[in-house]
Amino acid sequence: MNEHRKVIIIGSGPSGLTPAIYAARAELEPLIFEGSQPGGQLTTTTEIENFPGFPEGITGPELMDKMREQALRFGASTLYHSISEVDLSSHPYKIYDDEDKEYTADTLIISTGASARYLGLESENKLKGYGVSACATCDGFFYKDKDIVIVGGGDTALEEALYLTHFGKTVTLIHRRDEFRGSVFMSEKVKNHEKITVKWDSVVEEVLGEPDLTGVTGVRIRNVKTNKTEDLPCAGFFVAIGHHPNTDLFKDTLELDNTGYIVTQSKSSKTGLCGVFACGDVQDPAYRQAVTAAGSGCKAAIDAERWLSEQE
Ligand code: NDP
Repeated sequence: MNEHRKVIIIGSGPSGLTPAIYAARAELEPLIFEGSQPGGQLTTTTEIENFPGFPEGITGPELMDKMREQALRFGASTLYHSISEVDLSSHPYKIYDDEDKEYTADTLIISTGASARYLGLESENKLKGYGVSACATCDGFFYKDKDIVIVGGGDTALEEALYLTHFGKTVTLIHRRDEFRGSVFMSEKVKNHEKITVKWDSVVEEVLGEPDLTGVTGVRIRNVKTNKTEDLPCAGFFVAIGHHPNTDLFKDTLELDNTGYIVTQSKSSKTGLCGVFACGDVQDPAYRQAVTAAGSGCKAAIDAERWLSEQE
């Protein structure tokens, strides 16, 4: 027997739990699939100081727990499963979890988010949340008057390097080639900024430091042309080498842009399929903030609710 819901939400970051709160308060009894990382990307950050309503700051996991608690209080239910397949060829939509159980839904809210790309170093992984971050807007503030290193050569890295100059004593940008991928305008601003040093043709080989003791203390880089290695002391290490939207499940059924993000109709969360809505980072390559994801999740719940009333 499959289980049917009016609203199923895939994903449990701010863009999944916010529509859950709204849909639950509208008595739609939404079901949330939390996925492999319950609470989403924010659970990998420590302190969040820019989410409105928490003047003292709040940790990522605590914020997500509060959002979940709020959704459950109004009648949402949550399952700690991932979705492995969706069938959007007929209505109600069918989805299958990682135990191959089938669920059907009148409306589907896709909140699967995007994942920051990391270099894939063991030391980087070990120090995530202890000085390694993939979000300068979230974590730059913690490195006031400290040395900061950032890796990447696209517009995100350039923009974040400039942003980090507001805090850091120095900002060193590591790029693996001898020219940036990002726009000329931004490249020039970075090259001419007095606080920024660029290390060209260089790759990060290791992030130095110990998680609970020192946090990040530096990075070891290697120049790919000379093969020389160098240790750069720093307290914060930012990775800005791109994101990938989690859209694999939908690539054959929904319209994606040329970088893989779900295309939504202007000013709404509507996708090209009736009753299927997308919100948060999975459809937003530009802002990627907890508060924008939450706001866009709110829009998705309202869109879903309106769509359901139109069908009655
Ligand atoms: P991009 O894919 O544009 O750039 C990724 C950068 O990371 C590249 O310089 C790439 O190097 C480097 N990189 C990738 N993998 C590795 C690795 N394993 N080790 C070291 N370096 C690596 O991603 P962005 O996030 O910068 O930008 C995504 C899109 O968003 C772009 O279209 C960008 O223009 C846009 N954007 C626009 C902004 C704006 O207009 N204000 C702000 C931010 C983003 P290489 O160059 O050698 O491939």
